[in-house]
Amino acid sequence: MSTYETVHVNLGERSYDVLVGEGLLAEVAQHISPVLKQDRVFIVTDENVAPLHLEILEHCLDSAGIQCETLILPAGDQTKDFVYLQKLIGEFLTRKIERSSTIIALGGGVIGDLAGFAASITLRGVDYVQIPTTLLAQVDSSVGGKTAINTPQGKNLIGMFHQPRLVLADVTTLDTLSQREFLAGYAEVVKYGLINNPGFFRWLEKNGDALRDGNRMDRIRAVVTSCQAKADIVATDEREAGKRALLNLGHTFGHALEAEIGYTDMLLHGEAVAVGMKMAFDLSVRMGLCPAEDKARVSRHFDAIGLDTDLDHIQGVPWQAESLIDHMGRDKKVKDGRMTFVLVEGIGRAFLSQDVAREDLMATLEASIGS
Ligand code: NAD
Repeated sequence: MSTYETVHVNLGERSYDVLVGEGLLAEVAQHISPVLKQDRVFIVTDENVAPLHLEILEHCLDSAGIQCETLILPAGDQTKDFVYLQKLIGEFLTRKIERSSTIIALGGGVIGDLAGFAASITLRGVDYVQIPTTLLAQVDSSVGGKTAINTPQGKNLIGMFHQPRLVLADVTTLDTLSQREFLAGYAEVVKYGLINNPGFFRWLEKNGDALRDGNRMDRIRAVVTSCQAKADIVATDEREAGKRALLNLGHTFGHALEAEIGYTDMLLHGEAVAVGMKMAFDLSVRMGLCPAEDKARVSRHFDAIGLDTDLDHIQGVPWQAESLIDHMGRDKKVKDGRMTFVLVEGIGRAFLSQDVAREDLMATLEASIGS
């Protein structure tokens, strides 16, 4: 039996465990059985993950007498849309899914968000289990119950809060992830240190290289610490009435950058968040809230780990500060027409603010996009 750690997400009757360890996929049946209402599951995965990690999952469920139906979707954010949502739900219904069936999302944040949303509306809600296979999904998207699809008007604007029944984060699945995808997920790991855990950021400065290079124990520690941080915040603010918005550090900027390039893989979500976190520190320094040394430390860490946060490397994008501000104005966090920013008083001291002067914002954007 593998060794693993458990993070509990405390949400009353919607509570669940996040198991983090190595080799969990091969023993999935024993972990999932207690949360199944019937021995029938629908696995949703994508065409990249299927050849790598599906067989072991199906084999283990099969051996335990759990009947599996598998649906393989194209990889990539374009799959998170109405067309694939409809296809997916159509397949569930054609194959006679029942209210007591369980959907398993095997993949990154795209599969987790789409399958989770489909689970939330199929037959007015069926259970689902997350088996995240990207670092981003293990430390962020699989925990907390946000599910969504994209529309031409923006990312994640249609969705539901629907908590999974269980999350199984097997760090061995990360071995097949490209370095670029791994580092994009790493940005979300750093985020937890920057929000409220300066000790974790210090630990990452020391151990980030080993973690990136495959050290299993360090990976488990990083995923557990991140999931615990997210679980703590979600438990106090499940529907983002306040504190949960801190998890958006770097995201208001990051989403604007992603929107500007049409959500193409010129900039992965985590890469955009890394640039966005640097912008949040820059803005905070400009506003006299944060020591310049903390901003420099964050940049140094991204450079040291190999996370490219230089927008100049993205060829052919005529970045415009005005256009980015326009995207920010359409963010879900806009309240009464005012943008909400996650600012910092330093590393590990993030807070929410609606009091950002336009000239400070412009200065930060212009400094970052080099105009
Ligand atoms: P993704 O799901 O597109 O995965 C990235 C790529 O890696 C894909 O090509 C995928 O096929 C491949 N892949 C996945 N696991 C692999 C593995 N083990 N080995 C090799 N290849 C693998 O992207 P992502 O970065 O995991 O997630 C991004 C999505 O998550 C976005 O749509 C974003 O909006 C969403 N998100 C949601 C939340 C939330 O709270 N629900 C939070 C953050 C991000």
